[in-house]
Amino acid sequence: MGVTRDFFIALSKNQLLNSGAKKWGLKLGAGKMVAGTDIDSVMKSVKELNSMGISATIDNLGEFVYSREEATVAKENILHTIEAIQQHGVNAHMSIKLTQIGLDVDYGFCLDNIREIAEAAANYDIFINLDMEDYAHLQQTLDILFALRDKYPNVGTVIQAYLYRSEKDLDHLKDVRLRLVKGAYKEIPDVSLQSKQDIDENFLKLIKLRLLGKAFTSIATHDHNIINEVKKFVEENNIPHDRFEFQMLYGFRTEMQKELAAEGFAFTTYVPFGQDWYAYFMRRLAERPQNINLALRGIVSK
Ligand SMILES: Cc1cc2nc3c(=O)[nH]c(=O)nc-3n(C[C@H](O)[C@H](O)[C@H](O)COP(=O)(O)OP(=O)(O)OC[C@H]3O[C@@H](n4cnc5c(N)ncnc54)[C@H](O)[C@@H]3O)c2cc1C
Repeated sequence: MGVTRDFFIALSKNQLLNSGAKKWGLKLGAGKMVAGTDIDSVMKSVKELNSMGISATIDNLGEFVYSREEATVAKENILHTIEAIQQHGVNAHMSIKLTQIGLDVDYGFCLDNIREIAEAAANYDIFINLDMEDYAHLQQTLDILFALRDKYPNVGTVIQAYLYRSEKDLDHLKDVRLRLVKGAYKEIPDVSLQSKQDIDENFLKLIKLRLLGKAFTSIATHDHNIINEVKKFVEENNIPHDRFEFQMLYGFRTEMQKELAAEGFAFTTYVPFGQDWYAYFMRRLAERPQNINLALRGIVSK
């Protein structure tokens, strides 16, 4: 299992394969996990979700960009997507990876880019989530969040339960809208829990801490055990349903997504789209090699 995970994580970072993937289009079955490569297809998917009472967080795919030109193109694409959300009147917000808009090029350049995006989104009252990437980018992501906070309360981020430091980080983020996740990257034991049991325990602990606080929390997981525990906890503690939501990825456990929404829980689906689907796709295979089944269904149903 560990070896398979390492294998897919390594593949996700392969530059040559990443650029090759753009030319292949949505092959390898990625079409089941990615809502197309253009704005029209993603808007169509979001409207379908909205019709079932599900909101969307849209990820204009891309990460680990190392040139100003590419980062600027990515920023423009994100601005177009924000315009599209407004024009189509859909219930959606954006999820953004800072490495996509220049965090590895230059901190100040990235800050200018995200500020422009936050401003455009604030004009339409659209929320911006800064996805959390690998540990090497964590502190800078939080620094950028704090640099934006005063002027742009419409920006939030993600806390990963596999990191030792996360509980402390929550202390500084009590007023910030956050998504809680287990964590998707490969991190060393010095900074992160390694066993599923430890990660699950810490995940639940952090979720409960947040639910007893005031700010809005997105609980992002496909894990039915965690979801059931959360349902029990909110019931026992009379946590209002407008204080939290569940989130899952597009294409995963779709029946459960619809059920949770129908049960009256706020629900948001993470909808990735665009040409840079390759690293995202490989990370999903690393998390759960059985996802290959979903991918294979995508291939054979074409
Ligand atoms: C909306 C969303 C946003 C995310 N954003 C980030 C981010 O910004 N940064 C980051 O590091 N990570 C992010 N992640 C990824 C996250 O950190 C985990 O890597 C990923 O969600 C896998 O963990 P899990 O909680 O879903 O449960 P897992 O531990 O993968 O699964 C637990 C159990 O749930 C069941 N299960 C899981 N998936 C399925 C399935 N498809 N079908 C049937 N049963 C299943 C199985 O029984 C499995 O053993 C995000 C995840 C989601 C859902």
